[in-house]
Amino acid sequence: MTRTPLVAGNWKMNGCLAENKNLLTELNQGLGQDVLAKVQVAVFPPSVYLTSVAKQLNAGAVLGAQDLSMADNGAYTGQVSGQMLKELNCQYVLVGHSERRQFCYESSEIVAKKFKQAQKCGLTPILCVGESQAEREQKQTQAVVKAQVQAVIDECGVLALEKSVLAYEPIWAIGTGLTASPEQAQAVHAFLRQFIGESSNKVANTLQILYGGSVNAGNASKLLHQADIDGALVGGASLKAESFLDICKSAL
Ligand code: PEP
Repeated sequence: MTRTPLVAGNWKMNGCLAENKNLLTELNQGLGQDVLAKVQVAVFPPSVYLTSVAKQLNAGAVLGAQDLSMADNGAYTGQVSGQMLKELNCQYVLVGHSERRQFCYESSEIVAKKFKQAQKCGLTPILCVGESQAEREQKQTQAVVKAQVQAVIDECGVLALEKSVLAYEPIWAIGTGLTASPEQAQAVHAFLRQFIGESSNKVANTLQILYGGSVNAGNASKLLHQADIDGALVGGASLKAESFLDICKSAL
């Protein structure tokens, strides 16, 4: 089964108009058809910059948002709806990033509702799952990621995963410089695919599963060439054009 690789750059709460312009100019220069014909590339700026990034981004690379509201519209101060993101030409939206689970207290049930809302608005959710250091040490990795995916299956049904992307991001590897070894990452990806395959083989075989956690230009190639790793969700290294472009090329 060949799945098209996806490299997604999560800018988190970084950038400003001038920095974004420089980064996008370099990305536009570096992302040729040689890469874009074979690798899906997406950037996820803070939502206030989506409009200006959409105007500057090369045709071929696409736009994603870092979060969306569970609600359609109304009295939800500070939130951004899926319809608004769709109107700004977003194709993807992250749901369940560990920083939102941790700092915004998003439970797996809330994440599942956001996943559903994203699809209702015509966005492709990228569902992030992953265990903490303590959970890994207690050999809870499989149980944790399984429960995080199960919450979405309970809310939306397994077939909903067909129009989504999954990202395995061990919390201990995010922004720490620690990366799961290619073998550690592959083992969890294979487990996730097998678990989803228990409900639907078709969904399991076609689902893109990204790895995220301190991916950089040096470690990307080995990670991205594991059998069940279909791309990368990149934080820190997506803020520098050179490293992000190297990671995109590693997916070829
Ligand atoms: C992320 O934000 O999803 C991430 C993986 O960050 P980093 O690459 O910086 O670890």
